[in-house]
Parts: sequence; C-alpha cells; structure tokens
Amino acid sequence: MPWTIIGHEWAVNQLQHSMLAGSDAHAYLFSGPAGLGKALLALQMAQALNCEVTPGEPCQECCSCRRIARGNHPDVRIAGMATQGAALKAEEAARQKELKIATIREWQRDISLRPYEGRRRVFILHDAERLNEESSNAMLKTLEEPPDYATIILVANSPDLLPTIVSRCRVLRLRPLPRRQVTEALIARHLVAEEAELLAAWSYGRIGWALHAIANPERIAARQEQLSALLALAGQGRGAGLRWAEQRAKEYRNGEQESVFGWLELWQSWWRDVLLVATGCEASVVNIDRRHELSTIATRHNVPAIHAFVQRIGTAAQQLRENGNPQLVLENVVLHHP
Ligand SMILES: [Zn+2]
Repeated sequence: MPWTIIGHEWAVNQLQHSMLAGSDAHAYLFSGPAGLGKALLALQMAQALNCEVTPGEPCQECCSCRRIARGNHPDVRIAGMATQGAALKAEEAARQKELKIATIREWQRDISLRPYEGRRRVFILHDAERLNEESSNAMLKTLEEPPDYATIILVANSPDLLPTIVSRCRVLRLRPLPRRQVTEALIARHLVAEEAELLAAWSYGRIGWALHAIANPERIAARQEQLSALLALAGQGRGAGLRWAEQRAKEYRNGEQESVFGWLELWQSWWRDVLLVATGCEASVVNIDRRHELSTIATRHNVPAIHAFVQRIGTAAQQLRENGNPQLVLENVVLHHP
C-alpha cells in the first residue's frame, strides 16, 4: 500500500489518476479542519511526483521518497507558520498570526530554480489561510505564472482565502472521517475497542488528532481534567467563574491562544452533547464516557437555554478571532453559564 493516508480515498484516487494521466495541476489547495491528514497527503503527493520506482505513487522505499519523508530533498520545499517561527522564541512564534510577505518572497526566490535532481520541484505552503493581503497578492503572481517544472500545494485549515487564490488552484476539500472509520483505524493500531471508540468520538473524525493523542497520553489526561474543571464551575459560584475567565484571558494574551480555543471547543462539545441527550439524539454524543452525567444535566435545563449557551460559546470563539477583549469575551460566557 504505497499511500498511507487514512480515509480520503477519493482524494488519493483523483491525485493518482491525474498524475498517471499527466493531467495534474500546477497548483493545488488542500483545505479542511486541522488533523485530517492534509500535510501527509501533500508530502505523499510530493513523493509520488518524484518517486524513482513508481511515478504517480509514493513507493516509500526509493531514495527520493525517503529523503522527502525526512525533509531533506532539495526539490521539495515546505514553508508555513512553523518555519516562519522557527528562529523565534516560543512565545514570539505563538504571537505570530499571519504569513508574512518575507516568508512568501523567500519561497518565491526558490521557485525560480529548476529541479536539482527530481522531476518536479514541489512547494508546500502550510497555514495558507493565514496569508495576509500583502502576502496573498505576492502569492497570486506565482500562481498566475507558475514555472512548468513546479507544483504548488497550499494547505489550509479553513477555506478563508482570497477567491482569486482559490480560483487558480485545483481544490480538494477534505472532510472529517466517519467515526466508524477512525475507530477501525485505531483498532488496526492495536488499541482496544473501548479506547478506540472513545478517542474516535472525541476526535470529531480528525484522525490526526486521535493519533497524536495516542502518542501523547498526557493530552488525554489533560482533556479529562479540563472537562472536570469546566463541569465543577457550575457549582462553584460566580467568583470561581470569573477567576477562570481571568486565567484564560491571561493565557490568551501570553500567546497561548490555541489552548484557550481548546477550552472553548471542549466546553461547546459538552453542551452540544447535553443538547443531543435532551433532544433524544444520543447516538451522536461525543463524550461517550460520561453519558450518565450528560443525562443528569440534560434533565435540569430546558432545550432553548442549552441551545443558547452552545451558541454563546461559538460566538465567544468568533469574537476572540476578531480581536475582541479576551477578558470581556470569556466573562460574558461564564456569567451566562446555565
Ligand atoms: Zn519512491
């Protein structure tokens, strides 16, 4: 099995077909939520384009495929928020919100060079949704007239890119996998069924999230602790809620934005579950290890109140993304806790 992507069979088939037929595009956009396997798909596409044994497929064995996997093939270039922040201190890197024009320019200087040893030069740009206006416009120039030896792959966690960029790419929108497919993939990796089902439910179909959690069990423990802390807030009064908001706001301002979004996502997943139980749709519940607590809480609140709180958490996340004051935004959530 040359491609080792879990799921997304349609995307693999489409890419492989076009490469074998010689009808592959000069520019691609792989979009979809984080943790679906977009980065791996881009890397294996680069391998398939340069494989010495089975062109159109990544054999994973030849020198070219192995060097691409290790990140040291001279014709495959990768850029993104991680490479842009590589030379910075961790907190400075975390504060960076956009792909800067300097990152794109450096990448473009490289595109002007012909392949050193591969058949094609492949340029993978991660976090393409973070291109600002200036860097988007710089990027457009390359997309308008790409060199014939180059393949450009933009990888984006959201579809919020300039339409002019999207229209110049062949777009593959990856979707979360069905829960059953994630469960089966985890069982194939020797997880016991119960644990596989739990992680698959928590993952929302993001197989990469589940695999990362297996490799980092402290993340599973942290999720449980966070959820317990959130549930305890209900019985601790307003003072505890406000202290929670203050603490998260401080983290947010210190560059730990993703962690704060993680808290909100978890809290929203909980109340969405309460809503599902309250409306008799238990099969879709995510926190399957806490069904009993869900049922108890669902009986204590009416459906419109639960629904309003789920929406309020989503609105708060949106306000943070639009640079709302973190303390005010988070206080507004805890003070309306049902
Ligand atoms: Zn190969």
